[in-house]
This record gives sequence, C-alpha cells and structure tokens, in this order.
Amino acid sequence: MAETIVARGTPSGRSAIAVVRISGNDCAGLLAKICRSKNIPTENPRKMICGEIFDEDGSTIDDVLVVYFPEPHSYTGQDMAEIQCHGGQTVSLAIVERLIKTGARPALPGEFTRRAFENGKIDLSKAEAIIRLIDAETKEQVKGASRAMKGELGDLTSEIREKLIFVLSRIEASIDFPDEPETAEIVLGNLASIIDQIEDLDARVHRTGDQGSQVVFYGKPNVGKSSLINAIAGRSVSIVTDEPGTTRDAVSAQVTLGGLSVCLVDTAGHQEDLALSQVDKEAARVAKEKVENAAMLIWVTQMTAPEPPPDFSDLTPLVVVNKSDLAVANVDSEKSVQIENEEGRLVSAKTGAGVAKLIELIQNRLTEKFGPADGLPISTRQKHSLDTIYRSVKLADQRICNKQLELAAEDIQMAIAGTNELLGVDLEVDVLDKIFSEFCIGK
Ligand code: GDP
Repeated sequence: MAETIVARGTPSGRSAIAVVRISGNDCAGLLAKICRSKNIPTENPRKMICGEIFDEDGSTIDDVLVVYFPEPHSYTGQDMAEIQCHGGQTVSLAIVERLIKTGARPALPGEFTRRAFENGKIDLSKAEAIIRLIDAETKEQVKGASRAMKGELGDLTSEIREKLIFVLSRIEASIDFPDEPETAEIVLGNLASIIDQIEDLDARVHRTGDQGSQVVFYGKPNVGKSSLINAIAGRSVSIVTDEPGTTRDAVSAQVTLGGLSVCLVDTAGHQEDLALSQVDKEAARVAKEKVENAAMLIWVTQMTAPEPPPDFSDLTPLVVVNKSDLAVANVDSEKSVQIENEEGRLVSAKTGAGVAKLIELIQNRLTEKFGPADGLPISTRQKHSLDTIYRSVKLADQRICNKQLELAAEDIQMAIAGTNELLGVDLEVDVLDKIFSEFCIGK
C-alpha cells in the first residue's frame, strides 16, 4: 500500500500557474474529497478536467485543471494526479495543506522519481539524467541530459549487462565442460565488442564530476586577475584597484563558455610573505583551498614582471601573461617565465587583446578534460562504475587468452556488478537515499 504523497511541482514565487502533484493509492479518494467538477477526473483519465478545489468549510480555494493518471501509466507508475492552479506563493500551498489535512503526506525530495524507479518505470541512469536535466545551465547540457534520459546510457548498459551474463554462462560451461573449442572465440568476440562500446561511449560523455567546472585565477597581487575575469565575463564581477590585495574573498562569476557552464573564481592572489595580516592569511588560505578544488588553474602574471607559477598543485596551470600593452621588463632571468607567443597566453585585460583567444583556450582545456558540453552527463559514481566495467572486461579478456577461466569468471562478475550500479539493480538503500536526496521536492 503506497502512501499518497503531495508536493508542489513548481517553485514558490510569482507565476501565472503552479502545479500540485499527488501520487499513491489514495489519489482518487483524495480528489473526491477536495475537488468538485462537472466531469469527474478519475472517470476521465489523462484528460484535463475543469473543477474547483474547496476547503473544509466548502469555500472555494481556486478554480483549477485536474488530470488523473491511473496506474501504471503515470510518471511514478502509481495512481497520480496533477492539479494546475493559479500561481503565486499562497494558492498552491493552500491546496497542498488541504491535501495533507485530508490524508496525504508531504513528499520527500525526489520521491516521485524514486517511486518511478522502484516501480520499474525508469532505471537509475534515467532517474539521474532527470536531475541533470533540471539542473542544466546551458542548452548543450539540456541536450546531453535529454539523451541520457531517453536511455542512451541506460540502454547501452543493459545491453552490455546482457552480453556479460551470456559471457559468464559460456565461461562457466567451459569450466565444467572444457572440450568446447569455440567458446573462447565467442567469449572474446563479445568482450571485444563491449570494449568498443565503452570506448565509443567515453567519447560521448561529459564528466564534470560533482564539483562543477571551477576555473581558478591565481597569481601575485595586482597582476590583473580581477580585470581579466571581468574581461572574460563581460561584466564587472571583481573590484579592480591599483592597490595590491584588494580581492580578499574568493569572488566568483558564473559564465557560459562554449556551452559549458563555468565558474570563474578570483582569488586573493598568491602570497608567500609570512608577515601577512590575519585577514590576508585567511584570504590566502581560502585561495589555496579554491586552487585545490579547481577543475582548471590559470596562473596570471604580468608583462612587467613575468614570474613562473609556484609548484603547489597537481594541476598544470595555464600560464597567462597579462598587461601585454605594457613593455616587457628587464627581469632577472631565473624568475622570468618564457613569454609564450601562443595566442591567448599573452593578453591585455585593459585593451581586450588576446581575451577572445584565451576564452577559446579555456574552453578547449575544459572540453579535453570533461568531454563535450553536450555529452551524456556522468557523475563521479557513474564514471567509477564505467571504469570498473572497462577494467574488468579487459582483464577477463587477458585471462581467457591465458586460459585462466575461473579468474575470468570473477572479472566478469565484477563487470556485471558495475552495470548493476549504473542501472540501480540491488543497490543499497543508503546509496539510493543519497542519489535521490539531490532532487528537488516535487520531482
Ligand atoms: P589583481 O589584484 O590581480 O586582481 O589585479 P587587478 O585586476 O585589481 O588590477 C591591478 C591593476 O592593474 C589595476 O590598476 C588595473 O587597472 C591594472 N591592469 C589590469 N590589467 C591590465 C592590463 O592589461 N594592462 C594595464 N596596463 N593595466 C592593467
């Protein structure tokens, strides 16, 4: 018996309309208690019915449109209803409250989608694609998430899983009946095709991980980090002054570069001086933290005193020499950096020279690192599962060639476990809790 849950499907705030969703066994019963209409929604499934929601004293709360979806042909696979009411802060909330008083309970984040998953309407990869679609910040991200939602990742994973189960059965049969000569050939053929499928998929995914794309600008105070970020963002994000050390907090700007949603982070700069004030020390600590979490680092130095980046991150920074409008200084050669003439490395935030090219360089580096902006969005967890499948299949392939069938069978089991993680088969409840807690309420 599925409890009936209720939530607003639209955010609070001023809007023309709002949507309230209900799902569960008592959907029809609840509608009968709170909605009056000439045509009865439950007798006219999947049709929009005009009606009114009334309060306990019989007074009208709102004129609405109601659609009833009987199970299993609904988003959740259960009886569901959607009520379209007037927008604004209060009307939809009043309807939700009325439903709760009548017997529904407030839905948890992602609970509608979780029910869809648990009722077999969608696999986990599709459920996760829905959250990516809702969170998409660019059109390219929408395209990638839509493809994942339609099953590009899930269907491929199911296909691979089927092949692995078949391969496992053949290997196990060979262990029991070793005189079947064509087994190795069939198994190796299947494994090769799985390897091709995963390699092909790898070129079509977008891996931003769970931290998003943070591009962190660091460098000595006053080299023009804030000015460069302002020039790239095309608006004033950071305060620019002649006074060194004006940026103390990590200021950030969300921009779209080539379909990628990128957060440009301005730091307080790189200060090694031990005689820093308390505020400066804290600023330097925040800057270092940002550097450690960055997807990409840009070391900004200036034409008048070019310096190489300090060595404190595993990431190789893109070295950008700013103030190209000024003359090159006579700097001591040990400290100077090679002023590379590659376009985009030599820029002037003041005149704009080289900035467009720098943007292109950033886009290229991020695409190289994460994959195309319109690729299938892959979380760290999903990437880990895909890597497990790939590694295990490669190992199994070697073992079959070496006639180590028992070990090959174990590898294939590992690979099957990887597909299970992607599809959500036999996944532990706390893993599912974590995944669905990222959803908004009402989805
Ligand atoms: P930050 O401390 O590294 O963030 O540096 P700012 O962006 O605050 O800039 C420090 C100073 O350098 C300001 O006076 C800017 O106007 C100046 N500046 C920034 N970029 C350029 C540039 O490309 N050319 C010149 N001539 N001055 C610049």
